[in-house]
Amino acid sequence: MKEERTLILIKPDGLVKSLTGNIISMLSEAKLKIVGAKIVKVSKELAEKHYGDLKNSLIKKFGEEKGKLVFENTLEYLQGKFHTDRVLAMVYKGKDAVKKIRELAGETNPEKAPPTSIRGKYGRIHSETKVFENVIHCSDSPENAEREIALWFKKDEVVE
Ligand code: ADP
Repeated sequence: MKEERTLILIKPDGLVKSLTGNIISMLSEAKLKIVGAKIVKVSKELAEKHYGDLKNSLIKKFGEEKGKLVFENTLEYLQGKFHTDRVLAMVYKGKDAVKKIRELAGETNPEKAPPTSIRGKYGRIHSETKVFENVIHCSDSPENAEREIALWFKKDEVVE
């Protein structure tokens, strides 16, 4: 199996809850190599580019009005409007990196994620906005990982 890369973000709720160490410890179970890491203050533009297709799937799920609202709140969540204005962005590399990290993270909905997974352990659904505050982002395919890494990192910030 080919080596691949994946983008991981410890989201603002993960940082404000001081979960960085715990999350990185859990991620180390995947036995991958960290090839990039930095703190980023997320602009609206970066959040929108990162979540390119999410708006349509939320509109499909919730309908036009509520879908748009959940999308806007998700952008604000990533920008830190509800927690702190930064994320820890990281690139991990190794065999099956995408799948291994998705497994450790658990499902998008923290209430459906296994209780021992990162999102199951530390995530919640915000009672007002209904946004899944799931403490971590991880790429869902090797193709998306490459698109996302190019958005978040300059070439020379990744050391392979
Ligand atoms: P993932 O983060 O697991 O790749 P998505 O790309 O579908 O999942 O969604 C991006 C983020 O948007 C999620 O991590 C979550 O914060 C938020 N989100 C997605 N779907 C929903 C939903 N149905 N309800 C509330 N928030 C959602």
